[in-house]
Amino acid sequence: MNGVLSEINLLGFPDGTKMRPTRQRKALAAILFKAGHRHVTAEELHREACSGGIRMALATVYNTLHLFTRAGLLREVTVDSGQRYFDTNVSHHHHILNEQTGKLSDIGEGEILISGLPKASEGMEIRCVDVVVRVRLADKEKP
Ligand SMILES: [Zn+2]
Repeated sequence: MNGVLSEINLLGFPDGTKMRPTRQRKALAAILFKAGHRHVTAEELHREACSGGIRMALATVYNTLHLFTRAGLLREVTVDSGQRYFDTNVSHHHHILNEQTGKLSDIGEGEILISGLPKASEGMEIRCVDVVVRVRLADKEKP
């Protein structure tokens, strides 16, 4: 297990406030950060918590995921208006979305090259570029 769980007592937000290490937050952190990087939706995490005997409302899971995101532990990835993932890999990277399974995967560094960007409008600057490559089963592979 990485240090997140042991450090949850010390977690804070950019504004300097500290996160209270409630039992539910610690339980969700234990599930989220137990092994390697992953992408999870609030619904998936809620199901995992329930199947592990941890009872809490879906709204609590959402609130906790947003708290962890504000604290810099997670990165929120929105692939469309109704589909949000929380990524334990907070470094900047791009994603592949399997539209049929909903599985989100990382694109390795150097696997995608962006050779040009539009100019930002007057007074604006480009903050970041997030690419989501959408895949589905090719027609010839369909039964
Ligand atoms: Zn990712």
